[in-house]
Amino acid sequence: MVATIPNYDRWQEVERLRAERNAVANKMKGKLEPSVRQALVEEGKNLKEGLIALEEDLVQLTDKLQLEAQSIPNTTHPDAPVGGEESSVVRKEVGSQRNFNFTIRDHLQLGKELDLFDFDAAAEVSGSKFYYLKNEAVLLEMALVNWAITEVSKKGFTPLITPEIVRSSVVEKCGFQPRAQNTQVYSIDNSDQCLIGTAEIPVGGIHMDSILPDSDLPRKYVAYSHCFRTEAGAAGAATRGLYRVHQFSKVEMFVFCRPEESDKCHEELITIEEELYASLGLHFKTLDMATGDLGAPAYRKFDIEAWMPGLDRYGEISSASNCTDYQSRRLGIRFRPSPADPPPANAKKGKGSSGPTQFVHTLNATAVAVPRLIICILENFQQEDGTVVIPEPLRPFMGGLEVLSPKT
Ligand code: AMP
Repeated sequence: MVATIPNYDRWQEVERLRAERNAVANKMKGKLEPSVRQALVEEGKNLKEGLIALEEDLVQLTDKLQLEAQSIPNTTHPDAPVGGEESSVVRKEVGSQRNFNFTIRDHLQLGKELDLFDFDAAAEVSGSKFYYLKNEAVLLEMALVNWAITEVSKKGFTPLITPEIVRSSVVEKCGFQPRAQNTQVYSIDNSDQCLIGTAEIPVGGIHMDSILPDSDLPRKYVAYSHCFRTEAGAAGAATRGLYRVHQFSKVEMFVFCRPEESDKCHEELITIEEELYASLGLHFKTLDMATGDLGAPAYRKFDIEAWMPGLDRYGEISSASNCTDYQSRRLGIRFRPSPADPPPANAKKGKGSSGPTQFVHTLNATAVAVPRLIICILENFQQEDGTVVIPEPLRPFMGGLEVLSPKT
């Protein structure tokens, strides 16, 4: 509907030509003089050619309009701070910066001494901003993923491992723009598919074009995937080492819920993130992100920034967004409220239903973005002798390993 409005004249013309073509086809059904039949064949041929040209034109215009429409962002929460990045507000602070009484190393130096990464070989094999993880860094990545999935699934989240290649249309319906200039999305040549930038996309799509039972809401998932990002436009010191890379592993939480419970689910997601990072012993701040820094799909976003001593600054380690019905409208994900609930403005009578349906709300939040947590762990828990103490919750997932020691 949205896509047809500015092309209304063209739609009308297409409809008129289609009706004429059908009328000609009907006339040809009976017994006809050869000359009359020939005239009708000619007329039908001309109408068909006109239609093909107009329909092609319309497809292109509709496509252009869809692209424009996709850049329209969600509305914002009345309590979200208004303004640009600098207007974001700290809503919680946990722990404090550790005082080091020795000269600290950054994660690159620690990685070298502990033999944990190979950036040079990755640059040759794949390009810049790729890396090999080696030795205990491999165990650390596995431990972070396994620990996060174990902890989050205890809270009623269903674990998933997702496809990492998805249709471009699903990426667009989730609010990302694979066809925009400077896109963050890698598209696959000669296909209509993309590599995912986050598990939010395949998890968002899992219930595409369906009606979820009211009794199943909120439906919660915790998904492990690799993430692929072009990082177009990213530059500067913050892009060194593991901070901003093209491929990384992430454990993502995702919730489908009733509209009236999405604020509560958002609080639940940020609380889980805070509990996870506090239990690792990190010092961090939770920010209520300003309206100008939300991205298109988010109605409200809470980011967590942790202290990274080697980088000498806070760095974003996670993000929790309430996307309300921005994604569900595009993905066609509805639920049918129980008869006691009054129908809201977006209610629509569902097929073969006993009552109207509504769009669900969707939320997504990072449980573990592996490379930035590796930076935090190495830089915060380093010792003067070059060893690094592994946070206690991860040890059972690393065969009991307590300390990483430099290779001689
Ligand atoms: P996002 O899905 O963009 O909200 O990102 C979720 C989290 O992934 C961020 O908070 C970062 O911790 C991490 N992250 C995002 N982009 C990158 C990247 N290019 N390299 C490493 N980690 C990233």
